[in-house]
Amino acid sequence: MQDSGFLPRLLEALGPDVVTTDAQAIAPWLSDWRGIYRGDAQAVVRPRNTDEVARCLALCQQWRVPVVPRGGNTGLCGGATPDDRPANVVLSLDRMNAIRSVDTIANTMVAEAGCILGNLRRAAHDADRQLPLSLAAEDSCQIGGNLATNAGGVNVVRYGMARELVLGLEAVLPDGEVFHGLRTLRKDNTGYDLKQLLIGSEGTLGVITAVALRLLPRTDQRAVVLAAVESPQQALQLFSLLYSRCGARLQAFEFFTGPCLDLVLTHAEGVQAPFADRHPAYVLVELADTTDEAGLNSLLEATIGDALEQGLCLDAAVSASLSQVEAMWKLREEISEAQRADGPHLKHDISLPIESIPVFMERMAARLRQLDAAIRPFVFGHFGDGNLHYNLSRPAGAPQDWATTHGEAVTAEVLDEVMRHGGSISAEHGIGQLKREYFHRYKDPLELRLMVGIKRLLDPAGIMNPGKLL
Ligand SMILES: Cc1cc2nc3c(=O)[nH]c(=O)nc-3n(C[C@H](O)[C@H](O)[C@H](O)COP(=O)(O)OP(=O)(O)OC[C@H]3O[C@@H](n4cnc5c(N)ncnc54)[C@H](O)[C@@H]3O)c2cc1C
Repeated sequence: MQDSGFLPRLLEALGPDVVTTDAQAIAPWLSDWRGIYRGDAQAVVRPRNTDEVARCLALCQQWRVPVVPRGGNTGLCGGATPDDRPANVVLSLDRMNAIRSVDTIANTMVAEAGCILGNLRRAAHDADRQLPLSLAAEDSCQIGGNLATNAGGVNVVRYGMARELVLGLEAVLPDGEVFHGLRTLRKDNTGYDLKQLLIGSEGTLGVITAVALRLLPRTDQRAVVLAAVESPQQALQLFSLLYSRCGARLQAFEFFTGPCLDLVLTHAEGVQAPFADRHPAYVLVELADTTDEAGLNSLLEATIGDALEQGLCLDAAVSASLSQVEAMWKLREEISEAQRADGPHLKHDISLPIESIPVFMERMAARLRQLDAAIRPFVFGHFGDGNLHYNLSRPAGAPQDWATTHGEAVTAEVLDEVMRHGGSISAEHGIGQLKREYFHRYKDPLELRLMVGIKRLLDPAGIMNPGKLL
C-alpha cells in the first residue's frame, strides 16, 4: 500500500543523499542483470551504516512498505528485482563497503555486506591468507548477496558453500531491530544457529549488514589436468580415485561434455582444442597447496597415470605452466558465454547425489530423444559437488522463441527426473522469482510449512522481498 505520508518521513529520517525518489535515477535499479525481470519502486535507499538500514526498515514496517534488498545484482533468479508494485523500496548495500578487520592470528575477516567479493579476496590475499569463495561474478557481486543466496562457485568441493565460511553476521530485522551475531567464535553451541537462517534467505527475513568470515591459508601452488572421459560413470570413478589419492588438495573437479567444448571452440577467442581427437566428455581437475609445486605436479601425474592404466580416462594433459592452467580453465569458463552466443536456451542449475549423475544423464538423454531428438543438451558443472548445469538449446532451425514456448514442459521433465533421484531444483542460484513455482511444487510440504512459519515469526508484516522464494 502506497501512502503519501511515508516518503516525507523516510526523507526526514535519512535525507536526500540516502533516499532517491527521482524516476529517472531509480530506473537502473528496477531490472535484473540479465534483463529478464523489471519492476517498479517509489524510492531507492542507499544507507551508509547499519543504523540507517535499521531506521529505513522500521519505517517500512510501520507503513507496510515492501523492501527489496539489493547487492551486486548478479543473482540469476530475479531476487533483487522489485515486483511491479509502485510502493516498493529498493535497499542497496553498495555504500556499506568497508573491511572492518583482517586478523591473521584468528584467521578471520570482518566486512560490511556491500563489499565486492573480489575486493575481499584480494584483501585476504594481501594479508597472506585466502577467502576461498570464488565465482565468475566476483568482481560485481557483494558478500551480503553471496550470503543471502548461499553462493557456491568453483571451490565448493574443497571448502563448501558460502555458509560454511561464515562465523558470524549482523543483520537488521524487518522491525528495525539489529541482530548482533557478528561473532568470530569457532565454537558456540548455545542453541539454534540463527545466522544460518539468514544465509540463503534471499532477503526475505532481514537485511544482512556485516559478516565475519573464516580465512584459510593461501594455496598458490596449483596443478591442473584436463582428462577426456568416456562417460559420467568414468568421471565418477576418476573422482573417487583422485579424492582418495589427493585428499584435501583436490580444489576443483569440473565436468563438461564434448558438445560444450565444440561450442567454446566455435564461439570463444584464443582457445585451442586440448586433444587431437574429440571425446564424449572431459573433466578439469585442480589440485592446490601452500607449498611444493613440483610435488603437486608429480602427485597429479602419478594419479592420472594410474587412472589411464586402470581405464578411468581416455587421454589426459597435465599443466606445465601457469599459462597452461589458465588456458585449461578458459575452456570450462567460456561455456556459459558460448552458449549465450549460440542463442536462447533453457538453464537448469540442478544438484544430484553424485553417484546418481550417470543414471540421471542416461535417463534424461532417453527422455529428450522421445520429446524431440533435435534438442541440444549442453551439460557441464561442478561435478565434484553433484552440481550440473543441465542446459538445453533449441533444435537447429526451431523458432527463436523455442525456449519460451517449450520451456515449461521441458523443464518439468528435467526437474521431475531430478526429484526422482532425491536431487535439488536449485544447486547454487537460489529461487528468487524464477523458480518460485517449482519450489512450491517440489519442496517437501513439511519443510515448506516450517519455512512459512519462520517467515511469519521474523517478518509478520510480510514486507521483506515479497514475491520471492515464499
Ligand atoms: C557470470 C555469473 C556467474 C555466476 N556464477 C555463480 C557461481 O558459480 N555460483 C553461484 O552460487 N552463483 C553464481 N552466480 C550468481 C550470483 O553471482 C550469486 O547468486 C551471488 O551470490 C549474488 O550476489 P549479489 O550481490 O549480486 O546479489 P543480488 O543479485 O543483488 O541479490 C541476490 C539475492 O540476495 C538478496 N540480497 C542481496 N544482498 C542482501 C543483503 N545484504 N541482505 C539480505 N538480502 C540480500 C536480494 O534481495 C536477492 O534476493 C553467477 C552470476 C553471474 C552473473
